[in-house]
Amino acid sequence: MLIVVLVMGKCRVCGRKAEYWVPWANSWFCREHFIEYVERGVRKTFEKYVPRSHHRILFAVSGGKDSLTVLHALAPYLLEKGYEVGVLFIDLGIGEYSRRAKSIVEENTRVLGIPLIVADLSSYGFTITDVAELVMRRVLRRPVCSICGMVKRYLMNRVAYEKGYDLVVTGHNLDDTLSFILHNIMGGNMEAAIKLKPYVPGRDGLVAKARPLIYTYEVETQWYVDAKKINYLMEKCPYTPQKESIVMRLKHYLREIDKSSPGYMKMALRNIIDRLLPRITIKEEGKLVRCSICSMPASTDPCGFCRTRERILEYLGRKNTG
Ligand code: SF4
Ligand code: ZN
Ligand code: ZN
Repeated sequence: MLIVVLVMGKCRVCGRKAEYWVPWANSWFCREHFIEYVERGVRKTFEKYVPRSHHRILFAVSGGKDSLTVLHALAPYLLEKGYEVGVLFIDLGIGEYSRRAKSIVEENTRVLGIPLIVADLSSYGFTITDVAELVMRRVLRRPVCSICGMVKRYLMNRVAYEKGYDLVVTGHNLDDTLSFILHNIMGGNMEAAIKLKPYVPGRDGLVAKARPLIYTYEVETQWYVDAKKINYLMEKCPYTPQKESIVMRLKHYLREIDKSSPGYMKMALRNIIDRLLPRITIKEEGKLVRCSICSMPASTDPCGFCRTRERILEYLGRKNTG
């Protein structure tokens, strides 16, 4: 009979009894020093890639473990350094799921003492629940998540722009970023791949974006919220696709490789970000126009959000109030 004994190690920093084994760092950490290790990583990524010219920073927080990790790991540090920091929560109107998410974000911003802006999608005349119904009736022919993603990107930029923030911070973890970039590179969609850089400068009304969580493994965000006892949203959105996408499958394979070669995913993403993406030049960045309905920058007029919104309101029989 084979008996496996897991020997608990000692924390690499203080030598006390460790609780976390981090294979890609080849280290054991106690609770306190695991938290420190994650926070140091997030702050380092921010400082390495984000220029110092930004002053007003808006964290887009959904209530999930990733966005709350980046908020707790980075926002207090930026406040200490003199930046102005705010939090944006987008209320998508997904019933109990959105209500719970909102109350979690309210609680976390209260604890951290950071002002919260709530952007309510229903104030534009529809919700993601309406979208899901129209997709089910085949009135809208795009997946719910594709429309939801477009809505979130639009509102994130619009709120940041209108409220005078010059940088939006989001919580994309390493596993999601690497699988998404690889999927886009393999599909020849370089424009989408380079958008996932840790920092994308702003232009013509598009606010700059930063993703300081991209070198943090998804499992580390889970351990971090547990270690810090952060209240986060555990429920899944009711519209989460049932079928596993190629990106999800790619993520599983990458995790398998990382299990036998710890750190492989981090090394791969670092090489893609620092060595491959800078060599890819997209001929000319598409020219931006102003949407004649909402005045926001877009590649088409009307913008994707306004076009979709008009269709939704038309089918819902609701008046477009602009
Ligand atoms: Fe939106 Fe889809 Fe995420 Fe639900 S699962 S919040 S519909 S992107
Ligand atoms: Zn320790
Ligand atoms: Zn518009």
